[in-house]
Amino acid sequence: MIYIVSGPSGCGKSTLIKTLMARLPGLQFSVSHTTRPRRPDEAEGQDYYFIAREEFEKLKDDGAFLEWAEVHGFFYGTSLEEVNKKSRLGDLILDIDVQGAHQVKKKLPEARFVFVVPPSYPELERRLKQRKTESPEAVALRLKNARREILESDIFDYLVINGDLNQALEELKAVILADRCLFQQRQREFKEILKSFKSWP
Ligand code: ADP
Ligand code: 5GP
Repeated sequence: MIYIVSGPSGCGKSTLIKTLMARLPGLQFSVSHTTRPRRPDEAEGQDYYFIAREEFEKLKDDGAFLEWAEVHGFFYGTSLEEVNKKSRLGDLILDIDVQGAHQVKKKLPEARFVFVVPPSYPELERRLKQRKTESPEAVALRLKNARREILESDIFDYLVINGDLNQALEELKAVILADRCLFQQRQREFKEILKSFKSWP
């Protein structure tokens, strides 16, 4: 299954995804391409593929992206290669903005769309400021964009409220586990169980 996780910058998407991946086996993360400069705690190829604007433009023109968008003044995109490669290995999580989520909804309507929100606007502001990864101007832009993004959440299937981190983690985990329990997803396991019933004397 493919999970699209979106929500305003600073609401806690990366924290939720990273923590859940450490706790729940079988999850893959789709590493996006971006023209945003790397933050000190980010690793190339792990958090993002950091590329120049010209390189991004070329990939875009070559049709390499499943979706792409300009977000907070930089370009971000999910390559088809990344999705094809990683979705074979397990459940795949895409951390993308709402514009990207709308594009994926058209191309992969069967994916699951999860919208993450902070408990309030002041708490979002507090989180963005205390993260200290952006300049005051960049924080202001992200907060301005948050007001628009939160109104574009109509395509999403699930709403995760990231107030208490552990509660939000449980909610996101529940979404994924519910899908893993779908009859349709468990045909192979179910067949094995059925076989054991048939071989019983
Ligand atoms: P995003 O990926 O959505 O931009 P981050 O995961 O970077 O957001 O989180 C933004 C900041 O808020 C980080 O400093 C993170 O440690 C903090 N944070 C995330 N979730 C919570 C939470 N539930 N309660 C308090 N702080 C949080
Ligand atoms: P950040 O700069 O904080 O890492 O990310 C800023 C925003 O860009 C976040 O909302 C994040 O979800 C979004 N983003 C990250 N990768 C992609 C991508 O590949 N496509 C799109 N559309 N948005 C992305």
